[in-house]
Formats: sequence, structure tokens, C-alpha cells
Amino acid sequence: MNDSKGSNMYPKGTAAANGLVNCLVCYQLNIKQNSHCQGCGARIEVRIPNSVQITLSLLITSMLLYIPANIFPIMTTVVLGEETQSTIIGGVILFLDSESYLIASVIFIASIIIPLAKMTALAWLCYSVMFRHGIQQQELTILYRVTEFIGKWSMIDVFVVAILVALIQLGDLMSIKVGLAATAFALVVILTMISAQRFDTRLLWDKLG
Ligand SMILES: [Zn+2]
Repeated sequence: MNDSKGSNMYPKGTAAANGLVNCLVCYQLNIKQNSHCQGCGARIEVRIPNSVQITLSLLITSMLLYIPANIFPIMTTVVLGEETQSTIIGGVILFLDSESYLIASVIFIASIIIPLAKMTALAWLCYSVMFRHGIQQQELTILYRVTEFIGKWSMIDVFVVAILVALIQLGDLMSIKVGLAATAFALVVILTMISAQRFDTRLLWDKLG
């Protein structure tokens, strides 16, 4: 109705609606007609193609892999020729028993709390975009940024196992071997990272108002 030209300092709608695209690599604002970023040369896309589908499929794969990551042993400890296999939770209990509370809590947070929180957050973000159910753009964008930031710290768990394996190699006296779950868990972390990276937060801001 009101089509006055001088009064609106801020253009209405999303950047895309105003012919602007944000570069996801260097965050420079580009005009839509550019195929590559003026700042860093990366390919720019108004919205990541099939963002939700790719995010969801990687998310479901990592949820499925999280099952063997917890069922199978993450490491096998050999003490005096006797093998003991421990799962992630088993490892936490083992370290609690030997009063190594710091390692126990690091493993518990990195391998149980962070991955589950991250998967729940990504599922919630996809659900919000797909069903547009009570979207709160700002809160969800913050949720996404936190998720992306903390996600990579889950790899600490894989590093703990890798360091233990490297440090404790005394043959039959005492040694630690990596179990199948370590591979599954590493895949969970990597896949959720790519999943989060493929999620286009700009979708949350579409259809505003
Ligand atoms: Zn750029």
C-alpha cells in the first residue's frame, strides 16, 4: 500500500528477497547475480540445495551408527594376558571405579551428552523448517551455532582412546586395543558435523511475517 521510496531505511524481507546472498565461507554479502563470492571466490548459493534432506539423511545415518557405537566394545584392555572389553558406558564406569573422575566425566560428556544433544538439536531444526511449527528464528539460530561449535568436541572421546592405545603398549603385561565402536563413534561425530554444516540456517528466516 505505502510505496514511499525515501522513508524505509531498512529493506523489508530477507536478504534473498532483496537480491542479496551471504557467502557461507567468508560471510561477505554478494548480489544474487554473482555465481562466485567477490571476497573469497567460493561458490555462493541463495539456499543450500536440498539442505534439509541432506541434513536429515546424514542425521539418521549417524543415529543408526550411534547404536553399534554403544553396543560394541570401544576398547579391549589386555592385562597379564587377560582381555577385558569395555563399551563407552563400561569405560565410564571403569574410570569411575578407579576414581579417575576427570576422564570419566570427559568421556561421559563427549560421548553421551554432546552427541545426543547435537542429534536432538539437528532433528529439532529440521522439524522446525519442515513443519514451520512455532519457529523462533533467533533462538533456533543460536541453537544451531552452539550445536555446530560443541559438536566437534565429541572427537575428544576418540582421541582419549587413541592416546590410551598409543601410550599403553606393554605386550601381554598391559595393552589396549581399539574396538569396533571407536570406528562407529568417529563416524557418528563426522557425519553429524557434515549434517550440521549442510543445514542452511537461512531457511529459518524464510517466510518471515
Ligand atoms: Zn566469500
